[in-house]
Amino acid sequence: MAPQSALISSLSLNKKDVLLHVRATRIWESFSVDKKSSQRKMLNTKVVFIDEEQSQIMLTVWNNQKQDYFPLLKEGGVYDISQFRVVPNLTGYRIVNSEIALSFDHNTKVIPKEETERIPLFKFELTKFKDVPSLLWNTKNLIEVAGLVTEYGDPETASNGAKKMDILLLDSSNKDMIVTLWEEKANGFQNDLAAADDGAAFVIITGLLVKKYSGKDIVLSSGDATRTYFNIDYAPLKELSQSMIRNARERGTTIPPPRKKIFVSTAENALKVVKIQDILEVELPNAGEIMRFICEANIINVSKYDGWYYNSCPKCPKGIRIEENKFYCDACKKETDGYTQRYKIIIGVQDDSGRTTFALLNNDAEQLIGVPVRSIISDLGQDNLTQDIPPIINNIIGRRCAFEVKVSSYNRDGRAGYTVGRLIEMPGSSTHVKEGEQHNEAGPSKKARLSSPK
Ligand SMILES: [Zn+2]
Repeated sequence: MAPQSALISSLSLNKKDVLLHVRATRIWESFSVDKKSSQRKMLNTKVVFIDEEQSQIMLTVWNNQKQDYFPLLKEGGVYDISQFRVVPNLTGYRIVNSEIALSFDHNTKVIPKEETERIPLFKFELTKFKDVPSLLWNTKNLIEVAGLVTEYGDPETASNGAKKMDILLLDSSNKDMIVTLWEEKANGFQNDLAAADDGAAFVIITGLLVKKYSGKDIVLSSGDATRTYFNIDYAPLKELSQSMIRNARERGTTIPPPRKKIFVSTAENALKVVKIQDILEVELPNAGEIMRFICEANIINVSKYDGWYYNSCPKCPKGIRIEENKFYCDACKKETDGYTQRYKIIIGVQDDSGRTTFALLNNDAEQLIGVPVRSIISDLGQDNLTQDIPPIINNIIGRRCAFEVKVSSYNRDGRAGYTVGRLIEMPGSSTHVKEGEQHNEAGPSKKARLSSPK
């Protein structure tokens, strides 16, 4: 007996012998990442289907089934699907907010059908920016947003070593929101932006989670399911762009294309770009207060008398305290299981207003030096460590960077050493290093040897 046609909304667990007439709207691969080796492993491939009622349902295709359904299933394609199973949906990281999902087995039939206008091309469940804070750390459903891209930053290296890029979106209620795109999602965005004409960029971004890191804005963070759609023909996005264009016209302006920014931040938390002299003279409102600024400067030296690494708590960046051969972390407030070593380098910096010193820690130092502290330490040998600056570290002298620095009462009284929160190397600043020019008297650079794969 031929299976009966059904709509997604009529499906329930274990329902059998029905036929769905659907479009595959999205297909993506999910990966797991090994924290130690950073190796990515494909877990499965996911597909979102939509029917003429605009109901959606998700399918997980396991790796062993993949060759049966791909490249048969394509984004945008229309199919008749039968002999599938209806199973419970994932409990977290859902792209479709539904209690059920599809599962295929060896009996499942997938038959490509003709294109039809009755089934929509897209469907998004858009979250308003004002509702985003209430979803902080909520991992049940992934978030989809629409907005105008007003700013985008340079690709940066995050504190976990991953590449990322921040973009700033504005919605119809004039609220802004940072979206952090990781790894290939950042590359994809850059390519799409380059391919788009120079006009305004209205986007829908999917597969996001709400995150917040200490002292920073709330951000929407990308994952495997993240997609960015530029200026697509989707009614809610068209309405957004038309209303923003109308508002701009009433003010006698037009909507500008995305602006490139050194660091992207929301209007509320925008950091001031200042000169070194401003940092030296800033008045802290209160003794315990910390202020953050952005400052573009050249690295002119590495302090010879401040060392280059410190012994840190394995769980957090706080330096450990040693008492009677035991290690304590005052931030974690407990005895620690040994310690790890992290970079701490005091650099001299200069701009056209003056000079001072910044403290360069951990990943920011690693980003500039190009090798992790552990490879320098294993190269020198744990027993031969001294406070002398290894030659490879002096290679950062001469670089020009935009630094985000923290100013606290600790930095007063000539102590300086303003802590760098993050940095971006300015384009072309390190070409002289690549050309082999030396910045130290201690012989040739070890960079080539240290950074070669072991
Ligand atoms: Zn700690």
